[in-house]
Amino acid sequence: MSTFVVVGAGLAAAKAVEELRDAGFDGSVVLYGAEPHRPYERPPLSKGYLLGDDELDSAFVHPETWYDDHGVELRLGTEVTGIDTTGRTVTAGGQQQPYDRLLLATGATPRHLAMADDSGVEVAYLRTMEDSRRLKGSFTEGGRIVIVGGGWIGLEVASAARKAGAEVTVLESLELPLVRVLGPEVAQVFADLHREHGVDLRTGIEIAEFAREGQRSVVRLGDGASLDTDLVVVGIGVTPNTALAERAGIDTDNGVLVDEGLRASAPGVLAAGDVANEQHPTLGRRVRVEHWDTAIEQGKAAAHSMLDEPVSYDRLPYFFTDQYDLGMEYVGSVGPDGYDEVVLRGDTSAAGGRTFTAFWLGRGRVLAAMHANDWDATDHLRGLVGREVDVPRLRDASVPLDDLARFRVRRVRLLDTGFVHSEVAPWTRPVPRGVVSKKTGGV
Ligand SMILES: Cc1cc2nc3c(=O)[nH]c(=O)nc-3n(C[C@H](O)[C@H](O)[C@H](O)COP(=O)(O)OP(=O)(O)OC[C@H]3O[C@@H](n4cnc5c(N)ncnc54)[C@H](O)[C@@H]3O)c2cc1C
Repeated sequence: MSTFVVVGAGLAAAKAVEELRDAGFDGSVVLYGAEPHRPYERPPLSKGYLLGDDELDSAFVHPETWYDDHGVELRLGTEVTGIDTTGRTVTAGGQQQPYDRLLLATGATPRHLAMADDSGVEVAYLRTMEDSRRLKGSFTEGGRIVIVGGGWIGLEVASAARKAGAEVTVLESLELPLVRVLGPEVAQVFADLHREHGVDLRTGIEIAEFAREGQRSVVRLGDGASLDTDLVVVGIGVTPNTALAERAGIDTDNGVLVDEGLRASAPGVLAAGDVANEQHPTLGRRVRVEHWDTAIEQGKAAAHSMLDEPVSYDRLPYFFTDQYDLGMEYVGSVGPDGYDEVVLRGDTSAAGGRTFTAFWLGRGRVLAAMHANDWDATDHLRGLVGREVDVPRLRDASVPLDDLARFRVRRVRLLDTGFVHSEVAPWTRPVPRGVVSKKTGGV
């Protein structure tokens, strides 16, 4: 009987073991997790739970009994410390576990800011349930929170802290938050959103020092400004957990390098989720995606690859965020060559309800698309990404998106690889709480 081992009990791992059983795999499945919890989803840690809308328990991927019921041996609180790729064993807690297939789903770890960690100032990061509980407990009416980093995590924490009545300052070194992902046109919308909700958003800043002076915690900026704070939250990105793979001699470079079947360089070893750096068949370059949808879909795809079925993981990157009354979804990838133009349809202002769609165009195609608060647009956006589009009609907001998607685009080869864009899967994300859905008439 075959034994499949999965390292890292996060979302990608949970979806992989579920898919193995759904696909009829009847061998042994062993799932190792360094955290004490069974697999859970992380988005609620900065949204539903942190906002006080949901219980933390709702984040678990499966009910507690699911693993026993499906013959998945869950070894929690157990870090895998070694892999012997020749003998096909992993080492954990001093014990050796043989495998026929091994899936690395070890995720990522927040980047630390040593100058803050070593300063004596209270510093928090957000990755785990414990981190989220601690943060939530520290949000008080009038409490002073300084957030370092205007990325997704920093801005979602800002939104939750404002809801709790805290005074929030966000420090961003670039000219706008999220500008690397969204470009200045759309990043400005997020800057306005936060300022309108009372966040003191400071951009283009340099931090000179974090200091503990008696009972005071102070953040000093390069421009001479000084901020008193009760807590510093650092959200400056993550690094993939590749140390285990590196020690085993598996090829890594900004993640575990995998092919389109999510296979790593060692026989029988695969990777999925935040840790996987895939040679993406339709994008034609390596991508490592740190998002919920990729963890789910790569987890499932990896299961089929473990079963030696042919797999070509060509799903486009997708992510979402909810901040205040703005819910957004983004699909596609602009890539290292950037974009030529952004087309905005709808109204990006607060007065207009910030209901809009945005399209990043480059090399004659739609490279990426997003909507804010326009839940009817989601399927059309996914249909347009990767395709040539009639740009004047795209700019003309009176032309319905489904006209553009259905009649005015033609399938194109994205690359010379011979693959065509084959996305058909519907988006599965539920409309978030508090965001008005045109589909349902409100949630
Ligand atoms: C607060 C927060 C909010 C987010 N919100 C969004 C969102 O709104 N939208 C979105 O698209 N994405 C969001 N994400 C990103 C999304 O949650 C991640 O992309 C997803 O969790 C990745 O899943 P994973 O299974 O690859 O890795 P992880 O969830 O990181 O799981 C990996 C697990 O492996 C364990 N592990 C590591 N090494 C070992 C080892 N050697 N032995 C045993 N176990 C090990 C780790 O402890 C961890 O539990 C958010 C992330 C965070 C932190």
